[in-house]
Amino acid sequence: MTIEIHNLRIRFGEREVVKGVSFKVEEGGSFGIVGESGSGKSTVLRAMAGLNTSWMGRIAFNDEAAPQHRTPDFFRKVQMVFQDPYGSLHPRQTIDRILSELPLVHRMGDVDQRIARALSDVALPQSSRFRYPHQLSGGQRQRVAIARALIADPRILLLDEPTSALDVSVQAEILNLLSDLRAERKLTYVMVSHNLGVIAHLCTDVGVMIDGQMVEQVTADDLRRGNVTHPHTQELRRLS
Ligand code: ADP
Ligand code: MG
Repeated sequence: MTIEIHNLRIRFGEREVVKGVSFKVEEGGSFGIVGESGSGKSTVLRAMAGLNTSWMGRIAFNDEAAPQHRTPDFFRKVQMVFQDPYGSLHPRQTIDRILSELPLVHRMGDVDQRIARALSDVALPQSSRFRYPHQLSGGQRQRVAIARALIADPRILLLDEPTSALDVSVQAEILNLLSDLRAERKLTYVMVSHNLGVIAHLCTDVGVMIDGQMVEQVTADDLRRGNVTHPHTQELRRLS
């Protein structure tokens, strides 16, 4: 699905934390968002997943604009993967239970088969169904979180620092998995990370956020080569 974000504005009380952000992602594309902590990256993603209560501007998928009132149905093709799979997976539920919990999955039927397919998509053994999150490694837990995002057949994955909590070698495994999945399932990605290497691995285009604004958009190649103009982008490159 294509994504169009135009002049997105989000405030919490008196404070505007997203101040007119615009970008587009083509079908099957992969857009990265970088920027320092607190710049509004997660807030943008949450709005795109339909998790924010209110926002202004345009959020459109395949040229169809999201209505302003709460409409979970509009966002059903959009799933989010969070940084800390331990925090987002219920500690006292088996993987089987965690994966069958989405109400959407039940409406779609064939829950058992969907779980089996999702586990094999993320290269986890079927026996992990009967395990609890603490019995898995960090990388395996993030695979479960990705399986949960995939299970309802999304067209768009929003990845919020999906590898930040993982060891470097495991990071590479998860990035390769995400890269393969995007190609196989023709998914469209928006990924947030403070790590430019991680962004360069998976994304073709990158937006740089500072204090609620997207101050520069460049290709990942230009970012790698240092072909950037905004001082903040240059600073991010120096720091990484
Ligand atoms: P990032 O992901 O770039 O680190 P966030 O989008 O999480 O930044 O947060 C942007 C700003 O909005 C921060 O100052 C944060 O404290 C504030 N913020 C985020 N969520 C809420 C909320 N639910 N209520 C009030 N302030 C929030
Ligand atoms: Mg964040």
